[in-house]
Amino acid sequence: MTLSPDRDPMGTAIRDYHRTGSARQLRVCSTMFDEDELPVPHLFRTRKTLPPLEVEALDLARGRVLDVGAGAGCHALPLQNAGFEVTALDISPLAVEVMRERGLRNVVLGDFFTDDFGHGFDTILMLMNGIGICGGLNELPTFFHRLDHLLADGGSVLTDSCDLRFVLGDEEGNIDPEEFDGYYGEVDYRMCYAGIEGEPFNWLYVDFSTLSAAASASGFVAECLREGVDGAYLARLVRAPR
Ligand code: SAH
Repeated sequence: MTLSPDRDPMGTAIRDYHRTGSARQLRVCSTMFDEDELPVPHLFRTRKTLPPLEVEALDLARGRVLDVGAGAGCHALPLQNAGFEVTALDISPLAVEVMRERGLRNVVLGDFFTDDFGHGFDTILMLMNGIGICGGLNELPTFFHRLDHLLADGGSVLTDSCDLRFVLGDEEGNIDPEEFDGYYGEVDYRMCYAGIEGEPFNWLYVDFSTLSAAASASGFVAECLREGVDGAYLARLVRAPR
């Protein structure tokens, strides 16, 4: 399902920043955290300002690339400029409009899980906690099934996520499971921007060993390529050899 333009707070913030060079506060609410702000310029990071995990993902891209949840296009654009054939996918109509205005040639308004936007991709990028679109652990089998359909032979997914135990746990990162209804990385969010309230949605932060177990159960292999701060990591997902 794609978003309606009048219920698209992040897309509106992206469009404002693109058109005027500034934006109001993009607020992120959750029952699990204090209200926070997502700085809109962050969605326009460049090769120079991308975090090391994301630069490494760009350097590993090859062949036909699909950027899932491409936002303002901050990964798709440098790859297209480097000569890659890139498809940028997003459920936000306003983000899609901005990506087209920024010069991306192949931008699709669509949902990763339900829409048809081609297949045979050599690299699928899902960055800025991109695997979060799964919403919960129970969606991971569907997610891997979808990847199997989308990936070319020998293709791989590059995605980052983080282990929230370092944010939600005690000083040693120990989690009290009683405190959470389900897995501690399943977060409910709602975004607001300039009086526009988005629909609530769930976002999954998954620790590497849970991701790895889910991958094997679905015929994939997860490899941790690099660890960042506070439990962040970059992973590669490929089909398990037969
Ligand atoms: N990758 C970008 C944006 C990350 S924000 C960056 O690193 O800056 C996550 C993006 O995923 C948002 O733009 C949101 O609209 C998009 N998104 C969420 N669910 C999606 C889905 N099911 N299919 C495609 N895109 C999705």
